[in-house]
This record gives sequence, C-alpha cells and structure tokens, in this order.
Amino acid sequence: MLGWKELAPEVHHFEFEVPGVQTFDFTPGQFISVVDREQGKEVTRAYSIASPRGGNRFELCLNRVPDGIVSRWLFGLRPGDEVDMHEPLGYFTLRHPGHRAVFVATGTGIAPFRSMLLDHVPRIQPHITLLFGVRYEEGLLYRGEFEELAREYPNFRFIPTVTRPTEAWKGRTGRVQSHLDEALALRMPEELATTDVYICGLKEMVDDVRRELKQRGFDRKQIIYEKYD
Ligand SMILES: Cc1cc2nc3c(=O)[nH]c(=O)nc-3n(C[C@H](O)[C@H](O)[C@H](O)COP(=O)(O)OP(=O)(O)OC[C@H]3O[C@@H](n4cnc5c(N)ncnc54)[C@H](O)[C@@H]3O)c2cc1C
Repeated sequence: MLGWKELAPEVHHFEFEVPGVQTFDFTPGQFISVVDREQGKEVTRAYSIASPRGGNRFELCLNRVPDGIVSRWLFGLRPGDEVDMHEPLGYFTLRHPGHRAVFVATGTGIAPFRSMLLDHVPRIQPHITLLFGVRYEEGLLYRGEFEELAREYPNFRFIPTVTRPTEAWKGRTGRVQSHLDEALALRMPEELATTDVYICGLKEMVDDVRRELKQRGFDRKQIIYEKYD
C-alpha cells in the first residue's frame, strides 16, 4: 500500500502498487479480492477498483464497517505494508458503449463507477448519467472530479442527491429512487431499449431500484448490478 487519504468520515481512498509488473490489467468496473490472514485464518473480501487503467497502480475506496473484520484491518495499514490479493474479476463493466448508460450509486458503491468514468469518458465519450446518493453532503465522494468531468464532456451528466441535507445544500434531496426518472430521461419510448442501468451499493437500494426499473419496462439484461452486502 502506497498511502491513503480520508475522503469523508470513515471513508478512505487507498493507493496500491502491484510489484513486479509494468501494467496492472483489469477492466474498469471489476473488483479485486483482498486476503486478510491476521488471526491465523484467511478472510477474503471483494473491493471494486476505483481508479482508471494505467501503469501498475490502482486505488480503492472503502468505508470502515462497524466491527467489520477486513475493512478495520485495511484502515489500520501503513504505507509500505504488503497486502495479498487475487486478480481482478467480475462482469460489472460497460456492456454496450453505444447505449445510453445510467449509473446509480450510493456510498462507496461509487468506486467502480469512478473507474469506468475516468477511464471511458475522456476516451470513448459514452453517453452516461451518474445518479449518486449519500446521506450527508460531505459523503459525495469524488464530487469535484465528477463536476469537472460534466463541465468538460456534455455527454456526461452528474446528478447528486443528499438524504440529510444541511441548510447550505441547495441541490437535490431524498433517495436515488426519487430521481430515477430524471436520470433515465426517456424522451421517447424507443429509447428504453437502448438504455442500460448499472446499480452499485447495498442490497436494499439495489433491489429497490431494480424493482422500479422492471415496473418501467426494463428487461433483466438492461439492469446490471453489484451488491456490496
Ligand atoms: C463485488 C464487491 C465489491 C465490493 N467493493 C467494495 C468497495 O469498493 N468498497 C467498500 O467499502 N466495500 C466493498 N464491498 C464490500 C466488502 O467486500 C466488505 O463486505 C466490507 O468491507 C465489509 O467487510 P468486513 O470484513 O469489514 O465486515 P464483516 O466482518 O464481513 O461484517 C460486515 C457486516 O456489515 C455488512 N456490510 C457489508 N458491507 C457493508 C458496507 N459497505 N457498509 C455497511 N455495512 C456493510 C455485512 O452485511 C455484514 O453484516 C464489495 C463487495 C462486493 C461483493
């Protein structure tokens, strides 16, 4: 581990280097599995890669889960500490670059989307909307980067929402579910067939959004999701 920084209370961004290789190969959206051998037994947990491709480094974004075995261990690492991990895996990756894509994230569920956005938007300029929900405004992880991306690339829209806003917050409030229609922005019924929705976060939100999408006529194949719990 090269280093870490605090992104929000109890949320850290970690940087790692893979020794002995020039390039760390993965597809944005994939996860690695970290192996914790602390107390004599092996405990493995998946973490989405949060960075775009390039060189032999990668980044993770995770929250400290109360009494969580592996997240607590990772939060205690110091720069230079070595971590065992399995190679990148997973199919939570951009399926049809020609389709419109809507990304729905809550909390650290933003990690795979940051990787996809920073990697794909400048190169292939896909049509993507990011709907990002958090409890507090300070939990809008990587907000500056997404705002910058939206300013630079008209094909990318950023829709943040906060469930427990302070008076200073002038943006959208409430859960991601209540902003789905704005994010989907289906102007014509035909657009539904060429829109894919990617959802990442805790089970309750993911299942809720999937249900909402099915009610709107989305096919199973158009709903791609990753559950963290
Ligand atoms: C494909 C995949 C990718 C993942 N990517 C990330 C990532 O990028 N960042 C990240 O922070 N987590 C991610 N997770 C969750 C991660 O794998 C662990 O489950 C999490 O860190 C808790 O592990 P632990 O050993 O600390 O807690 P445990 O000792 O396993 O206990 C965790 C308890 O908290 C619940 N829980 C699990 N995850 C969370 C959470 N994020 N917030 C609140 N409660 C939770 C579990 O249901 C369980 O009851 C991912 C999970 C999967 C399956």
